[in-house]
Amino acid sequence: MRRISSNRTWKELKTINDLRGREHFVKDISCHGPSRVALIFPNTYDVASASLSYHDLFYRMNIPEDVGCERFFYDETARSHFSLDSPSVISDFRIWAFSVHFEMDLLNVLFMLHDLGVPLNPRERSEKHPIIIIGGSLSLFMKSALEYVGDYVYEGELAEGFVENLAKLKLEEHTRQSAIAFLDNYSRTGSHLSESILSNHAESSYLTPNSVFPNRFLLEISRGCRHRCAFCVMGHTFGGSRHLPYSSIEESLSQAMNHTKKVGLVAAEVNDHPDIDKVAQFALENELDLSVSSLRADSLSGHLLKALRSGSQKQFTIAPEGGSQKVRNLLGKALSSKDIEIAFRLGRDAGFERIKLYFIYDVPGEDGNDLQEISSIVSFCRDIGYSRISVSLNPLIPKPGTLFEGYKMSPISELKEKRRLLMALLNMEGVKADFESIRESVSQYVISNMNDDIYEGLAECVQNREKKEAFRYLINQSLTISGKRKEWVRNGKEEHTCC
Ligand code: SF4
Repeated sequence: MRRISSNRTWKELKTINDLRGREHFVKDISCHGPSRVALIFPNTYDVASASLSYHDLFYRMNIPEDVGCERFFYDETARSHFSLDSPSVISDFRIWAFSVHFEMDLLNVLFMLHDLGVPLNPRERSEKHPIIIIGGSLSLFMKSALEYVGDYVYEGELAEGFVENLAKLKLEEHTRQSAIAFLDNYSRTGSHLSESILSNHAESSYLTPNSVFPNRFLLEISRGCRHRCAFCVMGHTFGGSRHLPYSSIEESLSQAMNHTKKVGLVAAEVNDHPDIDKVAQFALENELDLSVSSLRADSLSGHLLKALRSGSQKQFTIAPEGGSQKVRNLLGKALSSKDIEIAFRLGRDAGFERIKLYFIYDVPGEDGNDLQEISSIVSFCRDIGYSRISVSLNPLIPKPGTLFEGYKMSPISELKEKRRLLMALLNMEGVKADFESIRESVSQYVISNMNDDIYEGLAECVQNREKKEAFRYLINQSLTISGKRKEWVRNGKEEHTCC
């Protein structure tokens, strides 16, 4: 039994025990195999528990009897980092596997490693340090940035072959280097994207009131996306749409109903599933409280909206992304004004009075009129009877792998100016606008375009334990990145290259 030496550690352990005590497992998972792996979600427990990847990795990594995979998450106040699945602490594990899905979470990985005494540069790690594996969505479009941190970067979806290989790894017979080489037996080159998700779709392993989606069973019904919108990494790097057959959806939902009636369907665009009406019908007949991850406006099903409304969903969410047709075309979103109008009316017909709209601003080629048209869409929503309208806006972040790769973000002063203008326009409509932090958006831009120099400087800020300094540093680096990128002028053509 581990000796607990301070009040702080007791408190930390109590928090973990409380969280664990409120979990209700819907899958039978044994995590006592000899090859021990710490699965770490580098964000808070509520966010980790809302991530299907976290659930799925925990389930799949524990299928071979020889693997014992336990869950951890990021808590910046934690010192010992207790497992959610045993009395162990993270330093008891020789393999730490981070599942990273958001750029800002990479910063949490760095802070966590530094706090736990692990050098941020893989070349400085020695036998006493754990092997750092990094995987997750980011591996599909910014693998090179992850390679600055990880001893081993796994690209793409978790493949059975990788887990089987892991199960054969007898750490006691290996040095750090030979263990990493052993993992390489299962090729790390090329991304792993399955052709079908029939045998590897993800679903919740446990329910908890402490998730972002409290006590909701999440089910992945499709993976990838066929639309390839110009700005979206999903459309460009996660492969085309692969759908879970209706029979499997019904089977999973029937099993979930033994535990909860709250169900969340997860897909890039839920209504792209060819059998979504049948799923909606099943939800209605079984009085499920249904929610969805996102809906595409040009293929909405009235049936699905009714199923959503009959549960606890009071708000209907869609993402026109651009206020004007010009911006939607630039974003490759391919939604017409008519599509948007039909979607709004379908929402009202289904009984929704609240609507949430997502928009992107700072799109290369956009002008003041395009921003103005965002408020026209909001005004139209009110005209057709929505009583509560909320708007969420974020600047375009040119990410690797998308059609905007290589473009630059506007300087912060310009982004703030656009935000001020949009805020004023939306205030006039009586709508509360929720803006994604400019500081974080710019930081995402820099992290997703990381190079040697940027990583070195960022690691230095982390070593000084200064989160604010790290943000300041990232924002300064955005000027360096943008200075080397192409200008984009109003007529939509490249004007010149600075360097
Ligand atoms: S924005 Fe939606 S529809 Fe477009 S590529 Fe991304 S996930 Fe697909």
